[in-house]
Amino acid sequence: MQSGPSYIPLLHSGELQKRADSLEALLLACTVCPHNCGNNRLQNELARCHSGRLPIVSTACRHFGEEPALGGLDGVGNIFFSNCTMQCVFCQNHQISQNWKAEEKNEISIESLADMMLELQSAGSRAIGLVTPSHFVPQIVRAVHLAATCGLHLPLIYNSNGFDSAQVLRLLDGIIDIYLPDLKYGDDEFAFQYSGIRSYSEIAHAAIAEMYRQVGAAIVTDGNDLINRGLIIRHLVLPNDLAMTEEVLRWIAAALDPRVTVSLMAQYYPAHKAPKIELLDRRLREREYEKVLAIMDRLGLQNGWTQEFDSSDFYRPDFSNKISPFITERNTA
Ligand code: SF4
Repeated sequence: MQSGPSYIPLLHSGELQKRADSLEALLLACTVCPHNCGNNRLQNELARCHSGRLPIVSTACRHFGEEPALGGLDGVGNIFFSNCTMQCVFCQNHQISQNWKAEEKNEISIESLADMMLELQSAGSRAIGLVTPSHFVPQIVRAVHLAATCGLHLPLIYNSNGFDSAQVLRLLDGIIDIYLPDLKYGDDEFAFQYSGIRSYSEIAHAAIAEMYRQVGAAIVTDGNDLINRGLIIRHLVLPNDLAMTEEVLRWIAAALDPRVTVSLMAQYYPAHKAPKIELLDRRLREREYEKVLAIMDRLGLQNGWTQEFDSSDFYRPDFSNKISPFITERNTA
């Protein structure tokens, strides 16, 4: 069993610094995510994700609402990055993911990002959760290098929308301990219609296959059954089967491994623009969720978690609360 986060050996060998340098070079003509905009972010030329040279962080707090095996009683020290590479019309985090002008004020230095990681560690978090990190990977790795030099020793969770560049992920090999991507759609038409992304399946499959290559299907836990290393694929079930859930689960079982850990989420509620969009304007029905649970079973996907059907009643983040967007939770203060 591995002890300690995987980036510590890379820090000591000098490889972590080299990776940060290689990733920063991608900002010159940005290819940090699969949109490949080609803008010079080092000169703050903004493109599709509205994000320039420095990281933008909406909130950093201890979060007790992740899968229990990730946070345990101490919670995950989540850093919620602003903006996003996808534009989901039903985004539950839309206050920070699609509110570029308002989020500009939350731009911080790399040093502040490193301090944030260290503060979350001092507050007792058992891991650092990087939430919506894809467009800030170079800045994050530079901050991890700084923080690790100053004693950061928690596992890193890469909690992304799954729309990641496989090439960029290769540069995270040995830095990220726990991959927690979404696999949102089993159908590209719906991915374009509801998230504005073309070729979603091909890109997300390549990204998640790369994560799987790095950490495999096995989950590594510590003495308290908390996850230290592994891959957990999240899937949010949408009403009217708009996520094409069976295709998503089938791909995981066939292309990866039926032993891969899946976190099936029932917490959909019509957020952001969804109340005005036919087919997305209601919550899940219980029989829709039961059907998905049966498919999961039939495909032999036995590892992971399924949310309670009524979870959309209490998972409703409010990012205008800067101490903790999750009102039922304890705060870092
Ligand atoms: S990270 Fe942003 S600027 Fe870079 S390619 Fe993606 S969307 Fe474009």
